[in-house]
Amino acid sequence: REFEVPGFEETNITVVVRCRARNEREVKENSAVVVRADATKGKLVELSMGPNALGDKTYNFDRVFSPAADQSMVYEDVVRPIIEDMLAGLNCTIFAYGQTGTGKTYTMSGDMNTNSGLLPEGAGIIPRVLYSLFNKLDGDGSENTVKCSFIELYNEELRDLIAREENTKLKIYDDTSRKGHATTIVQGMEESHITSAVQGIKLLQSGSQKRQVASTKCNDLSSRSHTVFTITTYIKKTGEDGEDCISIGKLNLVDLAGSENIQRSGAENKRAAEAGLINKSLLTLGRVINALVDHSPHIPYRESKLTRLLQDSLGGRTKTCIIATISPSRVNLEETISTLDYAFRAK
Ligand code: ADP
Ligand code: MG
Repeated sequence: REFEVPGFEETNITVVVRCRARNEREVKENSAVVVRADATKGKLVELSMGPNALGDKTYNFDRVFSPAADQSMVYEDVVRPIIEDMLAGLNCTIFAYGQTGTGKTYTMSGDMNTNSGLLPEGAGIIPRVLYSLFNKLDGDGSENTVKCSFIELYNEELRDLIAREENTKLKIYDDTSRKGHATTIVQGMEESHITSAVQGIKLLQSGSQKRQVASTKCNDLSSRSHTVFTITTYIKKTGEDGEDCISIGKLNLVDLAGSENIQRSGAENKRAAEAGLINKSLLTLGRVINALVDHSPHIPYRESKLTRLLQDSLGGRTKTCIIATISPSRVNLEETISTLDYAFRAK
């Protein structure tokens, strides 16, 4: 019997921004810093639009991290509270969204070294989640099981990054066995039972390695593919009636395709779509989130693989956090504006 989380109905979406420092190339090119965050951990981001523009542009988010914010600050502020929600039995999702090269993978995975047995300073969200999850579970004496899966979505095809066989393509089916919020099943997906943080990080490492190998053969793969690392926790609890039940929580950690793969409006959009330049899952994700925010009666989950995959974790009794990553430099200003506009619409 599955544990019901009491008193939680609202769809809950938070949107934060993380701006990295200028990289070597941007410094060498002398590209000016045009992004200003109001504090290391403030709420405003301000863009200098240049001498010909009508002045500056300011956005307000739930949180804005300046280049001075390190991995642990991002974790403590936006991720730690979500672990509590997962352990309480909710389905949660954290997305990294932004232009290629702005820090999505750094934010999600970062330094995955486990040699010292301690978290490296540069460790991103996934290693940190695994460490604090096992710290909690090992300390509280609960009966529990933790499982991980890791898949890649490219060109609307799913590939398993944990399965041993090469090129295991996966299929999604609707799960009709469960009442309530519609969900899907990924047939053949490897779900590894893990008993320590290091085991989970090793899966992340080897899966990321597979992705790397594939992307040297096909050079746009890494910017056009999405990865989804999912942690599921099963915890034995005692229900209100004194009977045993299982609380199932889920956390999806999603490193999205580069946001430059969404083209803008009009004729340009049509031509780009025909040329296969638009990333269907990225586009549909935006539509799903906007529909949820607007309380629209129709949520277009079915229109892409990513949104089908995450259907049970978007909308209804779930928590979602979008981390929009941006570059501070003038050369990337146009993409930065489009990232911030997309993120702002999700609020
Ligand atoms: P993306 O996944 O969005 O394409 P990456 O995460 O690969 O971008 O980041 C590009 C480069 O910038 C990497 O070398 C990464 O280590 C570095 N980087 C990104 N964000 C930061 C940050 N906040 N602090 C330090 N280095 C960063
Ligand atoms: Mg990346």
